[in-house]
Amino acid sequence: MSVTAPAGAPARALVCRNCGAEYPLIAQNACYECFGPLEVGYHDDVLRAVTREQIESGPDNIWRYAPLLPAGQDPATRVTVNPGMTPLIRADALAAELGMKTLWVKDDSANPTHSFKDRVVSVALSAAKGLGFTRFACASTGNLANSVAAHGARAGVPTIVFIPYDLEQNKVVTSAVYAGDVVAIEGSYDDVNRLCSELTETDEFEDTAFVNVNVRPYYAEGSKTLGYEVAEQLGWRIPEQVVIPMASGELLTKVDKAFSELIDVGLVPDSSWRVFGAQSAGCNPIATALHADTDQITPVKPTGIAKSLNIGDPAAGPYALEAVRRTNGWMDYVNDDEIRAGIQLLARTTGVFAETAGGVTVAVLKKLVESGKLDPDAETVVYNTGEGLKTIDAVSAQVGPTHTVAPNLKAVRAAGLLG
Ligand SMILES: *Cc1c(COP(=O)(O)O)cnc(C)c1O
Ligand SMILES: [Zn+2]
Repeated sequence: MSVTAPAGAPARALVCRNCGAEYPLIAQNACYECFGPLEVGYHDDVLRAVTREQIESGPDNIWRYAPLLPAGQDPATRVTVNPGMTPLIRADALAAELGMKTLWVKDDSANPTHSFKDRVVSVALSAAKGLGFTRFACASTGNLANSVAAHGARAGVPTIVFIPYDLEQNKVVTSAVYAGDVVAIEGSYDDVNRLCSELTETDEFEDTAFVNVNVRPYYAEGSKTLGYEVAEQLGWRIPEQVVIPMASGELLTKVDKAFSELIDVGLVPDSSWRVFGAQSAGCNPIATALHADTDQITPVKPTGIAKSLNIGDPAAGPYALEAVRRTNGWMDYVNDDEIRAGIQLLARTTGVFAETAGGVTVAVLKKLVESGKLDPDAETVVYNTGEGLKTIDAVSAQVGPTHTVAPNLKAVRAAGLLG
């Protein structure tokens, strides 16, 4: 299946990230020449014609950036729950506690299915619809399945999502409630992903768009909106430092790409930025490669509570390493206790309840400040990519009622709770 991009559309071709070979805008994620991953390439002149006013007059969601995306230019072609324009929260109390000057939390738990995955799914499925697919699917660590299932329900398109069998119950229910097919696989995410790659090659799944497999190049572009939005919310400028959680590493590479693009097309002033990546100790193949100063990413068998980040063989790992090295950033990882503490630290100081991935990111931010890798005086944005209620078990043993008292004044007074 393939479509011809309408005249004036920004996307031009799929381009191999390794060898530069070009392909039409079809459902394909790897290069026939070198097996490298494909990425969407754009018409530079079309992008350069985009103005701040044009974006600012758009809707209050990711589609304000449609002139910079590979799908959804015409609202009638969108498959979407209209994610985006999530809060950028000034985090002065957290900054003070960490000894930092200017810190912001980009809170993407505010999206319709409560994670940043709504962005990538809206772009991927809008492209998939244009390519003629009639069923939507994914290989997921949890949040992606939630989002694909919700998008399918909204669009009236059948869905089939594949997840590892041992996900948090809240994430399973939050997929299943939309009434599509939910397939729990007796294996890890990496097993699920391998299976889905195999399925895309079969006749039975010819009609099925796997958002992060056969239409992955479009999916990946959706992450750019997390870079665009932060720049726009800061008044059209790029922050000096960003701290981003990594599973496949795609989000990190695309926020970096978004910043480059904004400068290239003249939407923000030229400036430099540093990209920092966060993983958990239970799944740290990208950070480990950086620490060992190698390009070789050795796959791991993931463990630990940050399940949404548990990709042991990260597809965009090499590109995440490149972005972090080029921008003079760093990567680090934290263990489960530090993740729990990160969730509680963020909640206590900002009023944002993050899932385990957000706990990873905040705990890594703390570690980066303490190790001197991150400049506490430079303006920093830390990304919270998911909602705490989805991984409530992570902290349910740590927090609960602070007092339990009888329903009378005397008891409340005795507990020392009166003013
Ligand atoms: C998927 C996910 C990520 C990371 O995504 P990649 O692009 O694969 O690195 C981060 N946070 C949450 C909550 C996620 O669900
Ligand atoms: Zn190639």
